[in-house]
Amino acid sequence: MRAVRCWCDELVAAENDQRLVEVLRDHVSEAHPDEGRTDDDLRERVAAEAEEPEEKPPWAY
Ligand SMILES: [Zn+2]
Repeated sequence: MRAVRCWCDELVAAENDQRLVEVLRDHVSEAHPDEGRTDDDLRERVAAEAEEPEEKPPWAY
């Protein structure tokens, strides 16, 4: 499991980094499409910030 915080502080999670980019893209296009985030932005953020949550976090329930 991998997790990353969006620019708006929302935490999104997926099974791997590639999926994480897709999930983050879905979230961004739904929550704040006006920010004009590109795939490069998303990939960069996942590469820089994604981490393996140590235990099952509250949002996974
Ligand atoms: Zn967001």
